[in-house]
Amino acid sequence: MASIDREFTAASFYKFLNEHKLMGSRCRACGRTYLPPRPLCPECFREEMAWAEMSGRGRLLAFTAVHVAPTGMVAAGYGRDNPYCTGIVKLEEGPAISAQILGFDPKRPEGIKLGAPLKAVFLERGEGQARRTSLGFQP
Ligand SMILES: [Zn+2]
Repeated sequence: MASIDREFTAASFYKFLNEHKLMGSRCRACGRTYLPPRPLCPECFREEMAWAEMSGRGRLLAFTAVHVAPTGMVAAGYGRDNPYCTGIVKLEEGPAISAQILGFDPKRPEGIKLGAPLKAVFLERGEGQARRTSLGFQP
Protein backbone atom coordinates (compact mmCIF):
# COMPACT_ATOMS: atom_id res chain seq x y z
CA MET A 1 0.00 0.00 0.00
CA ALA A 2 1.55 3.30 -1.12
CA SER A 3 -0.14 5.15 1.73
CA ILE A 4 2.16 3.44 4.21
CA ASP A 5 4.71 6.23 3.66
CA ARG A 6 2.43 8.95 5.00
CA GLU A 7 3.20 10.51 8.35
CA PHE A 8 0.76 9.84 11.18
CA THR A 9 -0.61 13.40 11.32
CA ALA A 10 -3.93 15.18 11.05
CA ALA A 11 -2.81 16.45 7.61
CA SER A 12 -2.46 12.86 6.39
CA PHE A 13 -5.84 12.03 7.92
CA TYR A 14 -7.51 14.80 5.88
CA LYS A 15 -5.61 13.79 2.76
CA PHE A 16 -7.03 10.27 3.13
CA LEU A 17 -10.46 11.78 3.77
CA ASN A 18 -10.21 13.55 0.40
CA GLU A 19 -9.64 10.08 -1.08
CA HIS A 20 -12.76 8.86 0.78
CA LYS A 21 -10.82 6.74 3.19
CA LEU A 22 -11.27 6.87 6.95
CA MET A 23 -7.79 6.05 8.23
CA GLY A 24 -6.42 5.75 11.74
CA SER A 25 -3.14 4.59 13.14
CA ARG A 26 -2.92 1.23 14.87
CA CYS A 27 -0.20 0.43 17.36
CA ARG A 28 1.66 -2.69 16.24
CA ALA A 29 2.66 -3.37 19.86
CA CYS A 30 -0.65 -3.17 21.77
CA GLY A 31 -3.21 -3.08 18.96
CA ARG A 32 -4.96 0.16 19.95
CA THR A 33 -6.31 2.33 17.15
CA TYR A 34 -6.17 6.12 17.08
CA LEU A 35 -8.27 8.52 15.09
CA PRO A 36 -7.09 11.09 14.15
CA PRO A 37 -3.82 9.17 13.85
CA ARG A 38 -0.99 9.58 16.35
CA PRO A 39 2.67 8.81 15.73
CA LEU A 40 3.27 7.70 19.34
CA CYS A 41 1.09 5.28 21.30
CA PRO A 42 -0.02 6.94 24.56
CA GLU A 43 -0.72 3.48 26.05
CA CYS A 44 2.64 1.77 25.57
CA PHE A 45 4.79 4.74 24.43
CA ARG A 46 6.02 3.00 21.30
CA GLU A 47 6.34 4.48 17.85
CA GLU A 48 5.34 1.42 15.90
CA MET A 49 2.22 2.61 14.15
CA ALA A 50 0.64 1.24 11.00
CA TRP A 51 -2.17 2.76 8.95
CA ALA A 52 -5.51 1.04 9.41
CA GLU A 53 -8.62 1.73 7.35
CA MET A 54 -11.76 1.99 9.47
CA SER A 55 -14.96 0.24 8.44
CA GLY A 56 -16.89 3.47 8.99
CA ARG A 57 -19.40 1.69 11.20
CA GLY A 58 -20.05 3.04 14.67
CA ARG A 59 -22.57 4.13 17.24
CA LEU A 60 -23.72 7.57 18.32
CA LEU A 61 -22.24 8.51 21.72
CA ALA A 62 -23.33 12.15 21.99
CA PHE A 63 -24.74 14.87 19.77
CA THR A 64 -25.83 18.47 19.68
CA ALA A 65 -27.78 20.61 17.22
CA VAL A 66 -25.78 23.62 15.96
CA HIS A 67 -27.75 26.81 15.22
CA VAL A 68 -24.80 29.22 15.11
CA ALA A 69 -22.63 27.68 12.42
CA PRO A 70 -18.91 28.25 11.84
CA THR A 71 -17.88 29.90 8.53
CA GLY A 72 -17.36 26.68 6.60
CA MET A 73 -20.80 25.39 7.51
CA VAL A 74 -22.47 28.74 6.71
CA ALA A 75 -20.90 28.41 3.23
CA ALA A 76 -22.50 24.95 3.04
CA GLY A 77 -25.91 26.50 3.72
CA TYR A 78 -26.28 25.91 7.46
CA GLY A 79 -27.20 28.43 10.12
CA ARG A 80 -29.98 29.67 12.38
CA ASP A 81 -32.74 28.70 9.94
CA ASN A 82 -31.10 25.48 8.85
CA PRO A 83 -29.39 23.91 11.88
CA TYR A 84 -27.34 20.75 11.66
CA CYS A 85 -26.28 18.03 14.06
CA THR A 86 -22.77 17.29 15.16
CA GLY A 87 -21.84 14.42 17.39
CA ILE A 88 -19.34 11.91 18.67
CA VAL A 89 -19.34 8.48 17.04
CA LYS A 90 -17.63 5.49 18.61
CA LEU A 91 -16.23 3.38 15.79
CA GLU A 92 -16.39 -0.39 15.96
CA GLU A 93 -12.56 -0.40 15.91
CA GLY A 94 -12.57 1.47 19.24
CA PRO A 95 -11.77 5.15 18.72
CA ALA A 96 -14.37 7.92 18.89
CA ILE A 97 -14.49 10.83 16.46
CA SER A 98 -16.56 13.99 16.12
CA ALA A 99 -18.38 14.58 12.85
CA GLN A 100 -21.56 15.94 11.33
CA ILE A 101 -24.54 13.64 11.93
CA LEU A 102 -27.02 13.38 9.07
CA GLY A 103 -30.36 11.66 8.66
CA PHE A 104 -31.99 13.17 11.74
CA ASP A 105 -34.02 16.36 12.09
CA PRO A 106 -31.93 18.86 14.11
CA LYS A 107 -35.15 20.73 14.96
CA ARG A 108 -36.50 17.57 16.62
CA PRO A 109 -33.55 16.25 18.64
CA GLU A 110 -35.88 13.97 20.63
CA GLY A 111 -35.95 11.76 17.51
CA ILE A 112 -32.21 11.11 17.80
CA LYS A 113 -31.27 8.00 19.73
CA LEU A 114 -27.95 7.57 21.54
CA GLY A 115 -26.41 4.27 20.57
CA ALA A 116 -27.95 4.39 17.08
CA PRO A 117 -25.85 2.50 14.53
CA LEU A 118 -24.29 4.87 11.98
CA LYS A 119 -22.19 4.61 8.86
CA ALA A 120 -19.56 7.09 7.66
CA VAL A 121 -20.29 9.26 4.62
CA PHE A 122 -17.89 11.53 2.76
CA LEU A 123 -19.30 14.99 2.16
CA GLU A 124 -17.90 17.09 -0.68
CA ARG A 125 -17.93 20.84 0.02
CA GLY A 126 -16.66 23.88 -1.81
CA GLU A 127 -15.46 24.40 -5.36
CA GLY A 128 -12.10 24.22 -7.10
CA GLN A 129 -9.13 24.82 -4.79
CA ALA A 130 -11.44 25.17 -1.80
CA ARG A 131 -12.96 21.74 -2.39
CA ARG A 132 -12.72 19.57 0.74
CA THR A 133 -14.12 16.30 1.92
CA SER A 134 -15.77 16.39 5.33
CA LEU A 135 -16.66 13.41 7.44
CA GLY A 136 -20.27 12.73 8.29
CA PHE A 137 -22.27 9.84 9.72
CA GLN A 138 -25.80 8.72 8.97
CA PRO A 139 -28.04 5.79 9.94
ZN1 LIG B 1 0.57 0.73 21.92
